[in-house]
Amino acid sequence: MSTFLAKLPAGRAEAALPDKKPPMSAAEAKLEAERCLYCADAPCTQACPTSIDVPGFIKRIASGNVCGSARLIFAQNLLGTSCSRVCPVEVLCEGACVLEAWQHKPIAIGRLQRFATETARREAPGLLAPGARGGKRVACVGSGPASLAFAATLALEGHEATVYERRALPGGLNTTGVAPYKLHADAALAEVDWVASLGVRIRTSVEIGRDVAAAQLLAEHDAVFLGLGLGEDTKLGIPGEDGPGVVGATAWIEDVKLRGCAQPPLGHVVVVGGGNTAIDVARECAQLGAASVTMVYRRAPADMSGYAHEMEAARKDGVALVAHARPSAVIRDAAGVVKALRVTVAGAERDLSCDLVAMAIGQSKLRAVATQFPGVALDARGCVVADPTTGTTGHPKVFSGGDCVNGGKEVVNAVAEGRNAARHLLRTWSGTHG
Ligand SMILES: Cc1cc2nc3c(=O)[nH]c(=O)nc-3n(C[C@H](O)[C@H](O)[C@H](O)COP(=O)(O)OP(=O)(O)OC[C@H]3O[C@@H](n4cnc5c(N)ncnc54)[C@H](O)[C@@H]3O)c2cc1C
Ligand code: SF4
Repeated sequence: MSTFLAKLPAGRAEAALPDKKPPMSAAEAKLEAERCLYCADAPCTQACPTSIDVPGFIKRIASGNVCGSARLIFAQNLLGTSCSRVCPVEVLCEGACVLEAWQHKPIAIGRLQRFATETARREAPGLLAPGARGGKRVACVGSGPASLAFAATLALEGHEATVYERRALPGGLNTTGVAPYKLHADAALAEVDWVASLGVRIRTSVEIGRDVAAAQLLAEHDAVFLGLGLGEDTKLGIPGEDGPGVVGATAWIEDVKLRGCAQPPLGHVVVVGGGNTAIDVARECAQLGAASVTMVYRRAPADMSGYAHEMEAARKDGVALVAHARPSAVIRDAAGVVKALRVTVAGAERDLSCDLVAMAIGQSKLRAVATQFPGVALDARGCVVADPTTGTTGHPKVFSGGDCVNGGKEVVNAVAEGRNAARHLLRTWSGTHG
């Protein structure tokens, strides 16, 4: 099998950011699993966007049936391995665990899920087998979690699924964007390789709309799934923003995750934004040894869209926050070198000295490719209009899900939407769609 993992350059900067939640040993996993109360109403399952049977998979770990545990996880979420590592469990399953309400530590659901799925993938690579070929033909635009979940669900039922990715490496933001201390690019690509082993064909360096026309894709397939994700980092539009020393957050993170050489020493960094991407960039800079990292946010700390637990972790990493600050210019010297970010705080102008400014204020929408599919509409934000429970769009053969539909949520939401669209198609093709 061709492996994408083998195509990853060695010596990447992300290697300097070790795993914050290391894998559990079998003994640790069993001990933790035995703490679970196996609640009948399972609030943890209800809090999971993919509705994984949490008490069910934990019980199987406790009884030594690790493959059975993984099978139960994959039945709902074929990207259960990356989700176990990147999900904001603090506000999802673990946040809902009843033990939390009783002032006990919640069950480490994410780490148990990682233990089960990684063990099963390693020890039972044939656990899930692709269905016999000969079904329908589907194409996915983009190879992020939404498309992979869609394609794998259909491949396991014997349909021919091809995923097209414009980048050289597949996996979407799992490969290029998620903080390395949660998931390194090599782990993301190992999961893509596993999805390919389920019968999904993955073609990289192919941009739909440029290398292959939308019309051709529609003509050659029974269904097309748009899992486009989002586009370039948004700019603020302030003087001095264009040029070296000012980076878009996701472009910079991609560099850290995929670059084949060590990151040069970082000096003083200012990060603009208050969302999770801003917090991620700030934490990554701090952990890579930046001399200082300051986040600049235009409203009060309580208004930040980033998770409170992530901001707390950023503070522990040494990240400072300047709230109520509106950036007005990037100050450069005569040679064009960044010297400061000028902000207005409580009516007064202030220059925050720095040599790198990271803009983390959002990503653009990939409007052009979506609208090449006739009938596919965009909403006022530029997101693809699709039903989140079925993925249906205004074109009967086109389905969509993930960030390009929801505007940017979590990996687990993208997986749920891709899977839901595939299940809807399976029901439609089998004639059971009511
Ligand atoms: C910096 C950052 C950190 C994040 N961290 C977390 C986290 O810790 N936990 C979490 O749960 N979520 C996190 N998220 C959110 C999560 O990554 C996304 O919600 C998820 O990846 C969305 O999946 P997707 O499949 O919709 O899109 P993506 O993962 O963005 O994948 C879309 C893919 O489509 C490709 N593509 C686009 N257009 C075309 C075309 N025309 N032809 C071919 N290919 C195309 C793109 O290159 C891309 O690879 C993070 C997001 C960012 C930006
Ligand atoms: S809520 Fe907590 S204790 Fe109850 S089943 Fe879920 S993980 Fe176990």
